[in-house]
Amino acid sequence: MTHSAEDQFLIVKYPLTSLTQLSNVVGPILKESPAGSPVISVCDLVHCYDNRTALNGVTFDVRPAELFGLLGPNGSGKTTMFRILSTLMVPVGGRAFVLGHDAARDPSQLRREIGVVFQSQSIDVKLTATENLRHQGHLYGLRGKDLSARIESVLERVGLADRAREKAETFSGGMQRRLELAKGLLHGPRVLLLDEPTTGLDPGARRDVWQYLRLLRDQEQVTLLVTTHLMEEAERCDRLAILNEGKLVALGTPTELKREIGGDVIVLDVKEPESLSLRIQSKFDMDVRVVGGQIRLERDHGHRFVSDLFEAFPGEIDAVSIAKPSLEDVFIRRTGHRFWSEQDKNDLTIETRRHGEKQRKHT
Ligand code: ADP
Repeated sequence: MTHSAEDQFLIVKYPLTSLTQLSNVVGPILKESPAGSPVISVCDLVHCYDNRTALNGVTFDVRPAELFGLLGPNGSGKTTMFRILSTLMVPVGGRAFVLGHDAARDPSQLRREIGVVFQSQSIDVKLTATENLRHQGHLYGLRGKDLSARIESVLERVGLADRAREKAETFSGGMQRRLELAKGLLHGPRVLLLDEPTTGLDPGARRDVWQYLRLLRDQEQVTLLVTTHLMEEAERCDRLAILNEGKLVALGTPTELKREIGGDVIVLDVKEPESLSLRIQSKFDMDVRVVGGQIRLERDHGHRFVSDLFEAFPGEIDAVSIAKPSLEDVFIRRTGHRFWSEQDKNDLTIETRRHGEKQRKHT
């Protein structure tokens, strides 16, 4: 029999024989970590599947009440990191601590103190919001009035109090994700790990989920680690770790990361990118890259520089774009290649089309 990630989490967390011992679960959650110390600490983490390296010496810290993003393209190691932090997997090398507990050596204590929201749906849509949460509460050894009060409070927090008695199948995608969040928050964790929490949601519902994540951070000082492959979501994080092929390629706030580029990013469509890039490099004594068949330059006062380029190389430039640096530019600068491969883009287009069709069917 195979188990989903959620099943595995619950199975390893609370073997059925020890459910009765769980009534003391709520206590340690309110324990304070030493002031200023990181809530999550990842040190030189390495993981391999057979001979494929998924994480290659990754190190970062997450601070208290921080909304921290783990951004990377497909295959960069985000899920592997998420699984290690949520104790579903033991790394081959390095250490990962959450709230002072070593994920590999002290998993049962760690599991009690964190909330986890998996990418795949874990709610039962045939049950009401309250029923879903009651089942979740039982798994954590919560019962009676305490559980009812928590359910009421958590539904209030995620904006579903008025839908408490309705079946989850009547909820929109965004509301269902908020119910997933409520499940992760029911036992009062100070740390919430979320794996691509907006997968499959339309842009409005995505914004909705992010608004609740910010509320959790601001009003309840919950520390959040969110994996994402979407730049616009990464922009909403306080700080980011950007992964590429299992390596940490950038760490900082979105603003800091973009600031290091400085000036504007100029992209040129030309017929002979390799040859023209060398000539631009030598004429203007600057770094020039060819990425995906286009020439990329970073320069202050981009508009002015573009007219110098047209003057210096008449008839050679077909199209030009000038923009303020984005996180994709940061990624390209650090890795020398684009965030999305052509295959990823095709997959995304198909996914978006399917999603659109699904939405149309519902309306
Ligand atoms: P992401 O979540 O960023 O897409 P993953 O952590 O899933 O990245 O994958 C990182 C690398 O590890 C990829 O090369 C992927 O193919 C590989 N990988 C992930 N899971 C397995 C597995 N169970 N067996 C073999 N290789 C795996």
